[in-house]
Amino acid sequence: EPIVVIVGAGHAAGFLATSLREGGWRGQVVLIGAEAHLPYQRPPLSKAFLSGEIELAELLLKPQSTYDSAGVTVLPDTRVERIERTRKTVTLSDGKSLQYHKLVLATGGRARRLASPGMEGMDCQPNVHYLRSIDDVLRIRAQFRPGARLVIIGAGYVGLEVAAIAIKRGLNVTVLETQERVLARVTAPAISALYERVHRAHGVDVRTAVEVTGYQLGPFGDAVAALLCGDGTRIAADLVIVGIGLVPNTELAAAAGLAVANGIVVDEYNRSSDPDVFAIGDCSNHPNGIFGQCLRLESVPNAMEQARTAAATLCGKPKPYNTVPWFWSDQYDLKLKMAGLSQGYDQLVLRGDAAGQSFSAFYLKQGRMLAADTINRPQDFMLAKRFIAEAVALRADDLADESIPLKSLLP
Ligand code: FAD
Repeated sequence: EPIVVIVGAGHAAGFLATSLREGGWRGQVVLIGAEAHLPYQRPPLSKAFLSGEIELAELLLKPQSTYDSAGVTVLPDTRVERIERTRKTVTLSDGKSLQYHKLVLATGGRARRLASPGMEGMDCQPNVHYLRSIDDVLRIRAQFRPGARLVIIGAGYVGLEVAAIAIKRGLNVTVLETQERVLARVTAPAISALYERVHRAHGVDVRTAVEVTGYQLGPFGDAVAALLCGDGTRIAADLVIVGIGLVPNTELAAAAGLAVANGIVVDEYNRSSDPDVFAIGDCSNHPNGIFGQCLRLESVPNAMEQARTAAATLCGKPKPYNTVPWFWSDQYDLKLKMAGLSQGYDQLVLRGDAAGQSFSAFYLKQGRMLAADTINRPQDFMLAKRFIAEAVALRADDLADESIPLKSLLP
């Protein structure tokens, strides 16, 4: 009986396991995950799970019974240490080895560590945290006390989502960002300005263009007491959360001699440089036909779509991966949904009132839409995905004019 071994038991892996059965895969499916939990959703980790609104069981993609009835074996708390492609085996952390016919790497990524000079050793302190897993959040929640001084390093999605939850819980929150504006790498200046405004209105101390250059320990030397910034300021802290990005887990693939370049290199069917080995989710670098380039994406829609693609290929019904990337972030009552990739745009068009809380930013290149950031505008988001996928010719004036329904701009 053929056997698919899936390395990692995160979002992509969990979705793949059930998609394989739905696609008609009759052989064995084994899911091996380093964490102690069944596959779960990470987005709530910086939102409703951090705030305590939902509990652990609600994070799980599927309960154990679903894997049981689908005949999927899940091995939690187990790492794959090595892949031997010639013998088609993987070696596990408990010393056992396992045979595969097809192998899928869904190893995701890990939080990027603070490694700049002056910061050495800080992240070993018990009040300094990264945020990637359930276990990280459980540790953070234990220190999330009203009145505590929280310093967040990094104003990306994770950092800002944490700030929104923490301020609601009554912590004193400071966000430190080295770039000139928050979300600088991913959104237009108008969107960054909105987020800075809303966070400040809720009482978050947002500081941009500031570099953390050092830290001080408390009197007992067993916790960080303050962060030191390049401009000479000292910020007292009871708790520090670092959100400065992700490093894909590609070491296992590289050691097995698979092609790796900012992720495990795969084709449009999610096959790596070895046709019996696939890679999906945050760890894969895949071609996107719509944008004509290779991408490594860190989002749930991508993890699911790639799992779907790999399942189809493994079940003998290959269908190339080809979708418009998208992402969402929830902070306060702002629902941000973004589609496409803005890189290389030559025109930025705003639709709606940028001073308010409902507008969209459209990025065009030679009259075609590359990307859209929409705030509280699900309809604009849905249409933008179509404008991008279908390369619809658009005029900036029409997009900006709210008296013209966006829908009427479809051919
Ligand atoms: P992961 O979910 O990271 O799973 C990989 C798993 O593989 C991990 O459990 C890891 O321990 C395991 N593993 C790694 N190496 C091995 C090994 N050798 N052996 C065994 N197991 C191994 N996306 C959105 O679209 N919207 C959001 O709002 C959003 N918010 C997020 C908030 C936070 C706090 C975080 C951390 C992520 C968020 N994301 C969001 C991103 C999204 O969660 C990821 O894109 C998604 O989880 C990727 O799934 P994956 O399966 O590729 O990787």
